[in-house]
Amino acid sequence: MARAKQPPQIHQLTLPQFEAMFPDEDACKTYLKARRWPDGVHCPRCGNPKVYDLKTRKWHWQCAQCAPTGYRFSIIAGTIFENTNKPLRDWFRVIHLMLTSKKGMSARQIWRYMGFGSLETAWYMCHRVRVALMEDIGRLGGIVEVDETFVGGLAKNRHWDKRGGGGGTGGIGSGKTPIVGAVSRKGNVVARVVANVNSATLTAFVREAVSHKVSLLCTDQSSGYNRLDGEYPHGVIDHARGQYVIGAIHTRPSKASGRSSNAASSAHSTK
Ligand SMILES: [Zn+2]
Repeated sequence: MARAKQPPQIHQLTLPQFEAMFPDEDACKTYLKARRWPDGVHCPRCGNPKVYDLKTRKWHWQCAQCAPTGYRFSIIAGTIFENTNKPLRDWFRVIHLMLTSKKGMSARQIWRYMGFGSLETAWYMCHRVRVALMEDIGRLGGIVEVDETFVGGLAKNRHWDKRGGGGGTGGIGSGKTPIVGAVSRKGNVVARVVANVNSATLTAFVREAVSHKVSLLCTDQSSGYNRLDGEYPHGVIDHARGQYVIGAIHTRPSKASGRSSNAASSAHSTK
């Protein structure tokens, strides 16, 4: 099979280059600061750019805007490097190892190589790095539509112990299984069986499935999506008024048939 177009070559740091670039903690912190705040340090809590150096502690700042007595934060506050007592240099080394080994590296290998006291530490670090790397990879982008639907038979047709409350034709209480799905205009789909369609569930699903860099997020006017207003470019359509197409916004809830599963499942497919 013919190879697909090769992705651009990525420069890979060699070990000596890594050592030269990050000889000590200060070098790592300088690098992180420049990457994290290219326009100067901002408060990670409120975004305030007018923060003060903490005279007593290097790489610490104070924001007077979001706390009456001043919010103090460090270079790693709000990053994946928080909550371990491992130096930043260890973190960088772990990331370098994970990214330069062709087949990836297990937490156990990292643990042995780095000589960490506990395997848990290695596992935790690897996990945080992987989660950070996965962000926005595998999330839907462009124009994304999100909608809920209910699948499965009517409660009255089910075995008595599998019936939910109520007995209507859809919605919570009908005994049907709620599904929430996100579809990008490119055709990629993420769908998930959910326990309910309340605001917390819908919001969590969108944050997980949809990139924050979307050009438009379309939902129905259900208040379950209100919390996303400040977070996403959010457009709303009104099914009740028969609105299914408004310029770029249209949602067409397609009734997935039959298959329902109790376990949370997700599917990716291409139209
Ligand atoms: Zn602040």
